[in-house]
Amino acid sequence: MATDASAKPPSSGNGFNNFLKFVALPGGVAGGAYYFYNQNQLETQARIKARLDKKAAENPVAALDGKTFLPFVLKEVVDVNHNTKRFRFALPEGTTELGLPTASCVVTKYVNGVKENGKPNVVIRPYTPVEDPADGYTGYFDLIVKQYPNGPMSTHIHSLKPGDTLDVKGPIKKYEYKANEFNHIGLLAGGTGITPMMQLIQRILSNPADKTKMTLVFANIAEEDILLKDYFDALAKKHPEQFEVRYFVEKPPIGWRGGVGYIGEGVIKEACPAPGKGKVFICGPNQMLASISGTKAPDYSQGEIGGILKKLG
Ligand SMILES: Cc1cc2nc3c(=O)[nH]c(=O)nc-3n(C[C@H](O)[C@H](O)[C@H](O)COP(=O)(O)OP(=O)(O)OC[C@H]3O[C@@H](n4cnc5c(N)ncnc54)[C@H](O)[C@@H]3O)c2cc1C
Repeated sequence: MATDASAKPPSSGNGFNNFLKFVALPGGVAGGAYYFYNQNQLETQARIKARLDKKAAENPVAALDGKTFLPFVLKEVVDVNHNTKRFRFALPEGTTELGLPTASCVVTKYVNGVKENGKPNVVIRPYTPVEDPADGYTGYFDLIVKQYPNGPMSTHIHSLKPGDTLDVKGPIKKYEYKANEFNHIGLLAGGTGITPMMQLIQRILSNPADKTKMTLVFANIAEEDILLKDYFDALAKKHPEQFEVRYFVEKPPIGWRGGVGYIGEGVIKEACPAPGKGKVFICGPNQMLASISGTKAPDYSQGEIGGILKKLG
């Protein structure tokens, strides 16, 4: 279980840790018997948590089904920035994890009225859940979703209230990561393309045996669009020898000290392993992919490499 709250996504991280803080505070103020009462509660909760972690590690039970959409109950919604929220969904009773190999995504589904032909208008979109392995058993997973003004699925998810359900199916494996497969990996992300990078970063940093170095280059339009900047900064501070983060914005504020404009050849050369010496992961809007790695194949796989990465070999 991670204990450093400074390196947790804002107001998320471990719900159990939040509970600990909530209980611990009044105890400190009231003192005396109340303090000891709360200490006992904390110890009981810690023992329960340790038992659940052990059970989850020894006998993992996945919540996802690769063939069927299952309804997941929304527990909590928290703002991440002006257009993006974190949606926390409960894992059903009896399960110990979502069941998501790194790196994978899921698909969500809902019916948006009926089509002209009278048939249901089914909307299906992929999302990348976030579930930090360092937290052990939590009983939840998160989706970090940006709202597009006319986007049916992102608007639907943003309209959900705690207690509502979302139909989810998966996992859909994108890349099977193995610890220490590479000495260094470059992570190039644009906007919500950060979510699969987060899966990888959390997987690697939660495993003390995994010594893979990572350099994340995270591009956004403006500073206020950068998702979870404090979280990534805290991780870089906590793991300086293993994790570095660089930010690029198209519209820099006065005094901005990061990169300006798009992710270009210069920063890719600096941040990514040389050809044959590691791996580069990229996720972001289509025009970013086209410029850096070439447009995706019709089946959404990488397809033929193009762009800057092809030029750099
Ligand atoms: C593998 C994968 C994982 C994804 N994971 C996440 C995630 O974790 N969080 C998240 O918020 N989104 C994620 N997405 C994007 C998501 O699937 C939807 O495309 C997005 O939420 C918009 O869906 P929509 O139905 O609201 O709008 P749509 O009708 O699909 O699109 C609305 C408008 O927004 C544009 N648009 C859609 N997606 C993007 C984009 N990524 N960048 C720029 N313009 C775009 C469209 O071109 C259109 O103009 C992921 C996409 C893929 C392929």
